[in-house]
Amino acid sequence: MSGPAKKKRTRVIKRIVIDVDKCNGCRGCEVICSAFHSHPQYSSTNPARARIRVIREPLSDIYVPVYAGEYTAAECAGRDKYRIDGKEYEECAFCRASCPSRDVFKEPDSGLPLKCDMCESDPSLEEPMCVQWCLADALTFEQREEEVEEEETVEEVDAGLEALANKHGWSKVRDAIDRMSKGP
Ligand code: SF4
Ligand code: SF4
Repeated sequence: MSGPAKKKRTRVIKRIVIDVDKCNGCRGCEVICSAFHSHPQYSSTNPARARIRVIREPLSDIYVPVYAGEYTAAECAGRDKYRIDGKEYEECAFCRASCPSRDVFKEPDSGLPLKCDMCESDPSLEEPMCVQWCLADALTFEQREEEVEEEETVEEVDAGLEALANKHGWSKVRDAIDRMSKGP
């Protein structure tokens, strides 16, 4: 027997298309991302706080921008291995997750996970900052609308906060929320 029909809503899907062939490794995207998300806004630049990382292989002119994705409480059992133009890249090199097995995509002071938020702001930007700053046109912003079923958003937020607190402790989570809510 099917349950009650779920409400539908329109969701905006944003994505950034990366053209690896155009990226020259200038790291402008890392710099502007960290500046945009600093508090007060633009008060500091520190690529270690950026939600994008450029994986570099300067000898063969290969640069791959990788966006910070979801936090995961446990590292995965499988590993990917990439070989590009004959060079083998270390396991996990292009993974987007903030994960216990490595240091990338973590706030350097608190260790809390970093995730690309597409530069959400009020008023909203026409394009995310990294796209605007990429003079090589390696990053292209796209968005579309799609219909989805209503999500249990409150439960999802609770579960996410609980997972963070299990890993970092409630006081660190509270400190980070306080800091972030002060805003620019
Ligand atoms: S700003 Fe553009 S060209 Fe520079 S590293 Fe980032 S993606 Fe590559
Ligand atoms: S879209 Fe915004 S938050 Fe995401 S990596 Fe680019 S500058 Fe950072």
